[in-house]
Amino acid sequence: MSEKTMEFKTELSQLLHLITHSLYSHREVFLRELISNACDAIDKIRFESLTDTALLDGDNDWKITLSADKEAKTLTVSDNGIGMDEAALIQHLGTIAHSGTKAFLARLQESGAKDNPELIGQFGVGFYSSFMVADRVTVESRMHGKEASCWSSEGTGSFTVSEGTRTTRGTSVTLHLKEDAAEYLEEYRLHSLVKKFSDFVEHPVVMLSTEKDEESGEEKAKEDVLNTRKAIWLRNKSEITTEEYSEFYKHISHDFSDPAEVIHYNAEGAIEFKALLFIPEKKPFDMMMSNEPKAHLNLYVQRVFISNEFENLLPSYLRFVKGVVDAADLPLNVSREILQENPQLDKIRRNLTGRILKTLGEMKLKSYDKYLTFYAEFGPMLKEGLQNDFENREKIADLLLFETTATEAGKMRSLADCVESMKEGQEEIIYLAAEHRGIAESSPFLEGFKADGKEVVFFLDPIDEFVMPQLGEYKGKKFKAANKGDMGDAEALKDEKKKFEGFLGFVKEKLSGVKEVRLSTRLKESPACLVGDEYSMSPHIEAMMRRMGQPVPEMERVLELNPSHPVVEAVKAMYEADKENPKLSESVELLRDLAHVAEGSKVENPAAFATRIAALMARDLNAD
Ligand code: ADP
Repeated sequence: MSEKTMEFKTELSQLLHLITHSLYSHREVFLRELISNACDAIDKIRFESLTDTALLDGDNDWKITLSADKEAKTLTVSDNGIGMDEAALIQHLGTIAHSGTKAFLARLQESGAKDNPELIGQFGVGFYSSFMVADRVTVESRMHGKEASCWSSEGTGSFTVSEGTRTTRGTSVTLHLKEDAAEYLEEYRLHSLVKKFSDFVEHPVVMLSTEKDEESGEEKAKEDVLNTRKAIWLRNKSEITTEEYSEFYKHISHDFSDPAEVIHYNAEGAIEFKALLFIPEKKPFDMMMSNEPKAHLNLYVQRVFISNEFENLLPSYLRFVKGVVDAADLPLNVSREILQENPQLDKIRRNLTGRILKTLGEMKLKSYDKYLTFYAEFGPMLKEGLQNDFENREKIADLLLFETTATEAGKMRSLADCVESMKEGQEEIIYLAAEHRGIAESSPFLEGFKADGKEVVFFLDPIDEFVMPQLGEYKGKKFKAANKGDMGDAEALKDEKKKFEGFLGFVKEKLSGVKEVRLSTRLKESPACLVGDEYSMSPHIEAMMRRMGQPVPEMERVLELNPSHPVVEAVKAMYEADKENPKLSESVELLRDLAHVAEGSKVENPAAFATRIAALMARDLNAD
């Protein structure tokens, strides 16, 4: 095989530039990333060899070795893991697996992220962090039964692949260190970094060096194990420091920030396992770019890493949680597919879910500000649980926060608080879905509730209107939309109804697309509003779906008129005086248009609406 030169994807070279320049003060993390990768590669081959021992090539003395060559100014991190063939080298190191790289770069640029390690850290820079300390990186790798291959790059525009020289299975990453990175040739420095970042790594991280034999005076090889290798999740909680938890979290998540919450416990009884879970502070990169990523934790069976690809270890709405589960009772050498079906996993999932929801509840209670930050990031994800996790719906609902007529703009409160402060006799939680607080607050639909002193909960996240009503009820109170359904106060309008009968029929006839015209008890100050069926979509959701190109069936709504509003009274008087008056149909249409405008929707014919309003203004101003 001759040497091939290939281009990085454009976004990748931009990203490499950013990584090498912006994360400078954090550059020592390159070692953590390389050791993590080596560790993953060992875990992979170890797992696969459980069912096919031939893959081992007789080498299962798992270890990660570091060797520094002071003359050549190189540092090599080597493993006897699964290895990569040429195709894998090109695929894994030549392209970035993330689909949203471009969007991510745009975001970075926008936030002026010259030095924004947190944001870049969320991207999971992994292998590429090597270029912070090296001006050339060479990767020699070999897979079981394949030829050795070599990948090399200066981290600028291109990389080369060629035949490799490695004779055993595994990967060696050699960093040709930059002038100012000579410190990473020093044993003590490497030792302290391994202690700091990777002490708990399960496989030995070994420093290779030479020393003089005292007797013969000859140089001989020396191996020092740098890490204590104590799986952190197996250790006693009281012995683990916050820093150790943080480093472990960063090791498994590739995040740069500390976790918001650590959950570490042993489950005993019907099912035994140990869990170490982390609730992140911010959304990791894969979640910023898409809502699709699946939930996965690292599953171990008695310290042997099995997989991080089991989706049923956690429900998908908790996919923000990172961590490790070590189960004692699961079978070890079966395929992932068979394990996936194991009923024990179900029990573990329920237990983990309960624990996570409980922790979030405590966080909300005890560290409300921290909870607010969490909620801003992951609240919408939690809400998905209302749909998918029937068993825990009430507990999830306890965790939700909303703006309401009783909160200042931007402040939120829980549904429990709303129920608590209800007046006696109120049987429903009243909500109004709107695009933003401003529209919600000035909505005519609030008028009646305000007059009655009832709190209205604002659903400002588009998902709210879909998922919240599915809850059915909360603490015995049903959900009721302020802008849907009949208010059922027929008695109050008995007298008016008679007076308005003919007029309402006339209005209905004049307006197409209106299902019914009736008198309103919910309006106090506005003349008219449009009301949907109990289970219909709110107009702003309808508009949003249309914008996204979703088919939305035409839904006719009911026009409600406020019988005590002077405009409604005047139009009715006009109708009684002369049904043929051309101004009459114009005014009826205007009433409908006003209802559209007040709820934040578009009027059917904006130009005609504008002309009518202009004519009215002219008349009014001339009269002054
Ligand atoms: P991540 O580890 O987050 O997936 P990296 O950029 O660090 O991202 O690595 C990209 C991919 O390259 C890894 O997912 C893995 O498939 C492969 N890889 C990296 N280092 C090794 C290694 N030492 N042995 C085998 N494969 C590796």
